[in-house]
Amino acid sequence: MGDISDLLDLLPVYYSRLFPFAEYYRWLSYGNAATFGKREFSFTLSDDIYIRYQSFNNQKALSDEIKRLLPHKIDIGAVYNVQPKEQKRVPNFHPIERELVFDIDMTDYDEVRTCCKGADICNKCWKFMSLACKILDNALRLDFGYKHILWVFSGRRGIHCWVCDTTARSLSGQVRAAIAEYLQVIGGGEFMKKKVYLAGSKIHHSIKRALNIINPVFVEMCVKEQNMLGTEEGIQKFLSILPNEDDRREIKTLFNKESTSEARWNAFVAYIESKRPAGDRKWYLYRHMIEEIKLQYSYPRLDINVSKGLNHLLKSPFCVHPKTGKICIPFNVNAVDKFDPDKVPTIMTLMKEIDVYDVKDKAEQEKYELNTKRIKDYKKTSLNKSLHVFQEFLRHLEAERREQRLKGEISADTMEF
Ligand SMILES: [Zn+2]
Repeated sequence: MGDISDLLDLLPVYYSRLFPFAEYYRWLSYGNAATFGKREFSFTLSDDIYIRYQSFNNQKALSDEIKRLLPHKIDIGAVYNVQPKEQKRVPNFHPIERELVFDIDMTDYDEVRTCCKGADICNKCWKFMSLACKILDNALRLDFGYKHILWVFSGRRGIHCWVCDTTARSLSGQVRAAIAEYLQVIGGGEFMKKKVYLAGSKIHHSIKRALNIINPVFVEMCVKEQNMLGTEEGIQKFLSILPNEDDRREIKTLFNKESTSEARWNAFVAYIESKRPAGDRKWYLYRHMIEEIKLQYSYPRLDINVSKGLNHLLKSPFCVHPKTGKICIPFNVNAVDKFDPDKVPTIMTLMKEIDVYDVKDKAEQEKYELNTKRIKDYKKTSLNKSLHVFQEFLRHLEAERREQRLKGEISADTMEF
């Protein structure tokens, strides 16, 4: 993004022509206008003015206010017991409902990626996001039975996950914490120690599933592309993970005989395997070592504080990242390998796409004397694909709601406005 003033110029057009308010309302009302009215929105305005506890009775009230304030950033909070704008007037104001959310940020991978640091990302380190997305999505679906999961690019260097099933939205803070801890294999903090311990002789089925996703890509991605054992620094980091001094010394000697990251990894694997012979009483020390190291280098890093609290704010899908101009677009988990963070539409490219379309359309209409129907602006742009992902997510959510209503699981009077 060149300048913050560019953003200010473009936001009025973005909010009036492209932001999908109708779909947004369909999502956050969950078939119930009262639920929407009690949802907290918070806006970041120019000059970093930050306003919390905004709430709106309907889609029009929300869109009118967004078009008036032109927020640089929109965050979504919880659904409260009363409308958040009334919060100061009620003594027991508290959150009652909230999607289960996950935030994965590329900066938490700085200890295992060598291609970029900090806010930078490239196609090489995006592969960590891709793995995280697949592993979490699988765990949420297969271990917890969730179906309505929305994945969103955060606009710069990470991804957000919104689990929107009814049962997920009503979880208590305690259960959220338990789920987040279950999914968190890698703790935060310094690299210089082993972070993954797989206890017992059998590996937990959820970890095994994660390893099935990691195994086919690990050598290509971590060993070769990230060159994890290709430098002195990489070797030092790796050796410091090993719990035993004798192993460290022996593996270091093996590494010195090799010249590439891949050859060193193969030497390490062979060394661990050499401890396997039946009857070696110390095998239990080594039996999961290769898996543990793979997990440490590639398993999703979660900011679990975001997942634990009901009232934690998370950046809204379809808002514009104020620094990059990129749109926080939903994407399909099955296409995450093809997702290219460099090709995400920005507010600038979208405006150009609309213009190009309109000019071409006008020329064609004049040339052929056509009177073509007006199409929605987003369909003229590369936002179209992300809108389709979002609409498909909404269709599934709504189909399930209809089914529940037919079965009498939701009372008809609270439904559909
Ligand atoms: Zn990178």
